[in-house]
Amino acid sequence: MKKKTRSKPRTTKKSWATGLAAQVWPQERDFLERPERYRYVRKLFPDVGCVFCAVEPAVMDYKSLVLVRDAHCMVVMNKYPYNTGHLLIMPRKHLGQLCDLDDMVNGALAAWMKRCVTILKQEMNCDGFNLGLNQGRVAGAGIPDHLHWHVVPRWAGDTNFFPLIAETKVLPESLEQTYSRLKPHFAATAVKG
Ligand SMILES: [Zn+2]
Repeated sequence: MKKKTRSKPRTTKKSWATGLAAQVWPQERDFLERPERYRYVRKLFPDVGCVFCAVEPAVMDYKSLVLVRDAHCMVVMNKYPYNTGHLLIMPRKHLGQLCDLDDMVNGALAAWMKRCVTILKQEMNCDGFNLGLNQGRVAGAGIPDHLHWHVVPRWAGDTNFFPLIAETKVLPESLEQTYSRLKPHFAATAVKG
């Protein structure tokens, strides 16, 4: 009698629909379109000087987008965010080169980076962050003359095709809504200066 040999377990290839495509084309979500970002990235606005220095003395409210400032630093919401809750941390002094930054201010900025991450994680329950500084226009800095660190919250599946085809990011809530959510957290940590 011929002995039956067990056939090898059948391996099923991961289908296109559940593999790479599922990462590139995530599930549908509710988004608001942000067409003004297109004008921004196309540099269609006239040069009005340093916008960070313009808001540096401003009232901390939704219009200025300033969330908090202390003696040396301030945290501002990005007017053209890559994602909901995209924050900018910067020295109050107009500086474009990291090597010109005072060590004490550099330490204060790092402390704000940690606080921002803590607040965003607590309020928005994000899964991760993109954190960083672009120094110089060639490195992608939109405002290269005034150092600013980006804090971009990330959620699983938050990438969609809009930035790829139209350089336009769509967001699930308005800037005003996000500002209202975050402001109380920063008010609690604020050091007046
Ligand atoms: Zn400036």
